[in-house]
Amino acid sequence: MNLVSAGLSDRGRVRPRNEDALLLRPERGLFAVADGMGGHVGGDIASRVAVDVLDELGPDGLDAEQLRSIFLAAHGAILRAVSADPTLSGMGTTMTALRVRPENDGCLIIHTGDSRAYRFRDPQLHQLTRDHTWVQDQVDAGLLQPEQARAHPYSSVLTSALGIVNGEPEIQVVDVPCDAGDTILLCTDGLTAGLADQDIARLLSREPDMDAAARALIAAANDAGGSDNITVALVRLLASGQ
Ligand code: CA
Repeated sequence: MNLVSAGLSDRGRVRPRNEDALLLRPERGLFAVADGMGGHVGGDIASRVAVDVLDELGPDGLDAEQLRSIFLAAHGAILRAVSADPTLSGMGTTMTALRVRPENDGCLIIHTGDSRAYRFRDPQLHQLTRDHTWVQDQVDAGLLQPEQARAHPYSSVLTSALGIVNGEPEIQVVDVPCDAGDTILLCTDGLTAGLADQDIARLLSREPDMDAAARALIAAANDAGGSDNITVALVRLLASGQ
């Protein structure tokens, strides 16, 4: 598997704690971001539990069904943690994960909530995930314009997440055609609340080095106010032998 990757998680400038979690396992082609919410300390716990379950079971997950069941296992682990400690009641988390298949024959994205995955193929940035939010439902129904959705007072209301829905969360699996040179970006909404897609594309065009690009994205989101925790994972696919 030929790839280079980088990732960073930052508290931002306003929130007292960082409730996001980041998983980088380049040797296994497995990456994830998670954005926890709820309770006094619950948000940090929910996002950490979710990425830990993925980390533990991820090596078994090579196809869509296996990855979907790993997400359901993470959902169950959060519900069990709440049963064991009712003060954690109400905690939950988004999670958006990338599985790079061995031999680089494409990528799988697995997702629930309002964190996002993008494919950057210079100069185009293409969003791969659909936000599980009330405002996205309104956009899809033609009742809101996308630019209204970003600034909407209900923009953070989720319609699916791990740990907090009644019944099963909605889990999106996307099989993404990928070529050498493509970069996959996973991010929590702290990045996209502050930066428009064209800002992200411009930064990625300018910074071919993954570590420098991750630092630049976090810095730009903080410059835009840093109103939320910000987490990014960047994965560039390389041609074999590169
Ligand atoms: Ca967030």
